[in-house]
Amino acid sequence: MNVTGKCFCGHISYKAEVDPNIVAVCHCSDCQEHSGTAFGVIAGVIDEEFHLLTGKLKSFIKVAASGNHRELTFCPECGTRIYAKDAGDKPGFIGLRYGTIEQRNELTPNIQVWCKSAQPWAIIESMPKLENQS
Ligand SMILES: [Zn+2]
Ligand SMILES: [Zn+2]
Repeated sequence: MNVTGKCFCGHISYKAEVDPNIVAVCHCSDCQEHSGTAFGVIAGVIDEEFHLLTGKLKSFIKVAASGNHRELTFCPECGTRIYAKDAGDKPGFIGLRYGTIEQRNELTPNIQVWCKSAQPWAIIESMPKLENQS
């Protein structure tokens, strides 16, 4: 599914292709802290089809306990999170931040991950749950 998106202030705009079957609520502690809320919602980008149309993203590299480096991108002007992926040039999964997608009304999360670190009140009972990532 082709989507367009933008950050809160409009500095960043993009187009991307996402898989409507890979839309997840993420309860990991990174998502809680980096979003400033209780969980993140991401849509999986297909074949790295993410194209920045305007603006320049800023990145923060998070070193996970596993040693993996994750690149968290955001708008340098307003701080809106745009996507996260494995750092470096090699291909990898891009998790696009749901709230920036203009067609988000057409995308419904179908799984929740990292439930072991979820805030108990934030668990959505009607949605399939995974303890961690997969
Ligand atoms: Zn912005
Ligand atoms: Zn997360």
